[in-house]
Amino acid sequence: MQKYDVIITGAGIAGSGLAYNLKRYLPEKRVLVLDKNKDLIRDYRHRLTFPRIIREYSLPYETSYPALNFCTHDEHFFRFTREKFYLVNYRKICNTLLEKSEADFLPEKVTGVSLKHKLIRTSEHDFSYDYLVDCTGINYFLRKKLRLRLPDKLWVGKTRILKGKSAVKEPFYCLNDNGSFEDFYPYGNHIAHGIWRYTDAKDTRIIEPPRNIHFSHIVDKAELAEEHNTYVSANPVFPLYYKNCAFLGDSFGNSTTIASEGIRPILDTSKHLIRAIKRGNLKLYQNSWKKEYFNIYLKHLVSKNLGRRNHMHRMRTIKALREHGDFFYDVLDSKPDLKIPKEVMDKIPLDIKLRQLFYFLKYRASYLFQGH
Ligand SMILES: Cc1cc2nc3c(=O)[nH]c(=O)nc-3n(C[C@H](O)[C@H](O)[C@H](O)COP(=O)(O)OP(=O)(O)OC[C@H]3O[C@@H](n4cnc5c(N)ncnc54)[C@H](O)[C@@H]3O)c2cc1C
Repeated sequence: MQKYDVIITGAGIAGSGLAYNLKRYLPEKRVLVLDKNKDLIRDYRHRLTFPRIIREYSLPYETSYPALNFCTHDEHFFRFTREKFYLVNYRKICNTLLEKSEADFLPEKVTGVSLKHKLIRTSEHDFSYDYLVDCTGINYFLRKKLRLRLPDKLWVGKTRILKGKSAVKEPFYCLNDNGSFEDFYPYGNHIAHGIWRYTDAKDTRIIEPPRNIHFSHIVDKAELAEEHNTYVSANPVFPLYYKNCAFLGDSFGNSTTIASEGIRPILDTSKHLIRAIKRGNLKLYQNSWKKEYFNIYLKHLVSKNLGRRNHMHRMRTIKALREHGDFFYDVLDSKPDLKIPKEVMDKIPLDIKLRQLFYFLKYRASYLFQGH
């Protein structure tokens, strides 16, 4: 039976990014990556990401945009031009990272695990490990085996690839009047379009993606090439480790922010995990993740919840922020040291501030007993 220092289950951005960063920071480690899919084809391959990630990992991209537009169903509010945005093909970037990692890769589904003997089983082999990292995303392989809590707040979406040039040349995020949101990425002769709804749920089979489409005037004219129902976990759950195993990526609900951004926080989080592996103590991983991200996540959960419960409140908050594009950009950028400027605070109506406080405390309390 082969033994590895680190075994990674799942070769999405979490698994391939971790393998790449292990090669970068702990090159002496023997790493195995297992994925149930031989070629990482999955629905809706397009993702938007930021220049730092493209530069840091030398990732291939399909196109770049000079700006990102954020609008509500009736008006434009922000046009972010501080930095470019990149449209990437998810399969390509994962494959690039995996190749550069030089880790061993096997296209095998992981079926079993023994924590006691530090063994992992696929349909064909057994392997032993020092550290096991579960990167199986919304399949939650290890969380389910260990009967740990699963994320229960989801972005449920319908994603499409449309054929035909669009009059709109830049990406858009649009907040619709029914609380759902859309993203829209024109590229070449295609448009990637998604429509999303935030929801509390565990059983994705019963969740219907939203129907109202703000961009219907464009979408209806274009030829439909692909359409999928999809979902992304939207709340982190603890613990982030269990004995010699850790969770990375959507396997603990690492997707966040307005744009259901995942790539950047997941790649950044892998560095926290590597530091903990280096020091032989996975508790450090959870602690440092909490220190850097927990409050940001709570704020996002609050804003998502406000939007879902009372769409008018969220619209009013956005309107209050419209003259503060830079601040709003920092929110989108998940700045860890985000400080709300006084003039922005003054413009947020009191009832919204109180609701925000209520949800903030509610979420803090609900996390109190999670983790170790
Ligand atoms: C439609 C959509 C649009 C998005 N848009 C953006 C965006 O524009 N920008 C952005 O930054 N983020 C975006 N996100 C979020 C981001 O893509 C995800 O957070 C991220 O891809 C999660 O990566 P992951 O590696 O944790 O999981 P995944 O990419 O889901 O990878 C999990 C891997 O595990 C494998 N696996 C599962 N079970 C097993 C098993 N038992 N054995 C072996 N292998 C297994 C799967 O085959 C898969 O390859 C979007 C997500 C979706 C769904």
